[in-house]
Amino acid sequence: MKCENFSSLIRLLRITAWVQRFIKKLKKDTISGPLTAKEIEDAKFMWIVHIQRKHFAKEIHDITKNKSSNIIRQLGLTIDNNGLIRCVGRIEHADISENAKRPILLPKKEAFTKLLIYSYHRNLLHVGVAQTLSQIRQKYWIPQGRSTVRHVLRTCGNCIRYEGGPYKMPLIPPLPKNRVTESSPYTYTGIDYFGPLYVKTVNGSEKVWDIDSNIVLTPSCFLTLNKHTGIPERIDNDEDPEYKPQFSSTDNLLEIWKKGQKHLNRFWKVWRDDYLLSIRERTTVKLKEKRVRSNQYPQIGDIVLIKDNLPRGMWKIGKIINLSKSSDEQCRSAKVLLPSKKTLNRTLNFLYPLEWYDEHCEQTDNVNNVEQNSKCETQTSSTRPQRRAAEQAKQKIHEWTS
Ligand SMILES: [Zn+2]
Repeated sequence: MKCENFSSLIRLLRITAWVQRFIKKLKKDTISGPLTAKEIEDAKFMWIVHIQRKHFAKEIHDITKNKSSNIIRQLGLTIDNNGLIRCVGRIEHADISENAKRPILLPKKEAFTKLLIYSYHRNLLHVGVAQTLSQIRQKYWIPQGRSTVRHVLRTCGNCIRYEGGPYKMPLIPPLPKNRVTESSPYTYTGIDYFGPLYVKTVNGSEKVWDIDSNIVLTPSCFLTLNKHTGIPERIDNDEDPEYKPQFSSTDNLLEIWKKGQKHLNRFWKVWRDDYLLSIRERTTVKLKEKRVRSNQYPQIGDIVLIKDNLPRGMWKIGKIINLSKSSDEQCRSAKVLLPSKKTLNRTLNFLYPLEWYDEHCEQTDNVNNVEQNSKCETQTSSTRPQRRAAEQAKQKIHEWTS
């Protein structure tokens, strides 16, 4: 049996207990009826003994031979009458339960430990890291417990569903070239993607997503050009001689054109000196984002919650089917497929990933981060490489505790 194949501790323990009962029956033991609490406790005991022998064989050998090592000294390890390794520490005289004084040592990188942490977390109604850890420490001791518990809690589907954050957004890119270069009106046009319009009907208000019309609106619909001069026709009776309609002549038109050019040049000068340069003052390079954000990078196939103006429990679920890249090769929005087969385009800060991939966590925790980011091609900011001393210390701690 492998712990990795089970999603909950109680299921693992019950199946183990049934297997143990079957073995007892083979030995002609007559037991019947539902499983008892003792049988489940025995199954748990068996698993703890098994994983302790698997991960702490050297320590068990050292303790039985009365040898000492760093981890034995540090945690005050001892073996109790049942053969379990316990941490004595220096709180022998504290007024707490015997189990809390001498907690059972559990290895951190073990599927059974993760199932145990998750069962505590679920039994305590999905509380946070500190509360889960303090309850576990009433009976067990896990080296580097806080980070182990944090890692397990990050994978909890319920907590991600209700408390997980959206994807990180890359830094704000430079303004597109067509917005910061001079050009005549309507050189660049686009469509403003708008939401539903609310139309009054006999039944009240109704959402309308598009206007059912055969008329295509173009810039010419908004301008009435004078066929002869190309300058918009003036229809009001202004007494200003400058604006009085005049009969066209070559000299007259040239004069008007020169005047127009002069005003235009002045306008572009003001635009460049006063407006465009003032934009530089804006130093914001990051979008305002929530404190809780996902550490994952968006990938096609990710299942996400789509943020809406509704309580979180009512947000729609979708699957990312395409990632759009900006001109700076960063991904800022994604196309999401809904269960109804409709597709939506949403920016990444509106998408909350629902799944946790273990490899993300492993890779973001170490210096291979850069490699992972380049693979995803959606990396936002590089992580500072760790100092060599920190790396060596990490390696040493790893050797002691695993
Ligand atoms: Zn949870």
